[in-house]
Amino acid sequence: MPGRRYRATGAADRPAAWHAAGTDNSQAYPAQANEQRPMIRHLRFHGRGGEGVKLASRIVSRAAFLHGFTVQDSPLYGAERRGAPVVAFVRLSDKPIHERGYIERPDVVVVMDDSLLAHPEAAVLDGVSEPSVVLANTSEPAEALQTRYGVTAHMVTLDISSVALEILGHHLLSAPVAGFTVKATGVASWEEIAKAVAIELDGLGVAEPVLARNLRATRWAFEHAPAVQVVGTSPGRAVAAGAAFVIPRLPARIAAPSISVEATSALRTTEGWRVYRPVIDLARCTRCFYCFALCPEGAIHLDAQSYPIVDYDHCKGCLVCVSECAPKAIAEVREVQHGA
Ligand code: SF4
Ligand code: SF4
Repeated sequence: MPGRRYRATGAADRPAAWHAAGTDNSQAYPAQANEQRPMIRHLRFHGRGGEGVKLASRIVSRAAFLHGFTVQDSPLYGAERRGAPVVAFVRLSDKPIHERGYIERPDVVVVMDDSLLAHPEAAVLDGVSEPSVVLANTSEPAEALQTRYGVTAHMVTLDISSVALEILGHHLLSAPVAGFTVKATGVASWEEIAKAVAIELDGLGVAEPVLARNLRATRWAFEHAPAVQVVGTSPGRAVAAGAAFVIPRLPARIAAPSISVEATSALRTTEGWRVYRPVIDLARCTRCFYCFALCPEGAIHLDAQSYPIVDYDHCKGCLVCVSECAPKAIAEVREVQHGA
């Protein structure tokens, strides 16, 4: 699992929104006085490949670093590509961080794609308890999601997808979700998150106009997100003498979710992964077979006349077919939002 960590050198005032109370993230580990362990803020991001989960976590940790925190961020994803569930972790502390790996008991869960909530194997709500805060990108009110999924934790929702589509023209959520997260949790100021967005996007070679649009979307999210009190901060796991850091063993359901679920190919549908569905206009189709040949999921079949048919049970919405169809016979149609 790739990752990075920084140690902040400058002193900084800690945001008032953080309080040292609530869940102890370390009960399963060797005894060590809590006061000897650094308080670590644990943030866990859930989204889908292609939405910018990894980059959102990097921007948040960069902003927190600029604010003065010691930070660590790392993503976790499998071999599956666009549309597959992706998780990323951010740890923030005043002191060196000696733990690694999956965050099992998050203080903050950021849900970048609300369709994941309906899939228990995505483990979005695992380890969420009352002191946790759930930040969700959705057009639905928080109460509706809390009722449907039995969430007792405080939940804040913001429709970032619509804003991303309007301002960025694509379902790319990293910068506005980072703005939402930073404002809600209070881990950095507007100037720091704006600088973090600029640094991270510049590092990816993003053109100036695209950066400007991302900053606009980030600003919108920052201004519309309420600040919440995060009270579930927890001490880091105890580090045994001589150990550089701690990585606990995880149950297979979390460590390797796709192989612990039965029937991972034909019987495992991926229709819930889509933000957009490809819709073929057969009147424009030249039967070139490109979409049939290039669909990474084998989700396009041919009918008796050799016209392509999409298997929507196994189409994950990567839109490779749309970009490869020369006569533009395949339209991308936004799926009806979950629960709408
Ligand atoms: S790529 Fe386009 S034109 Fe070619 S078979 Fe598919 S839908 Fe038809
Ligand atoms: S049918 Fe198109 S959108 Fe669906 S998985 Fe195949 S290439 Fe991707």
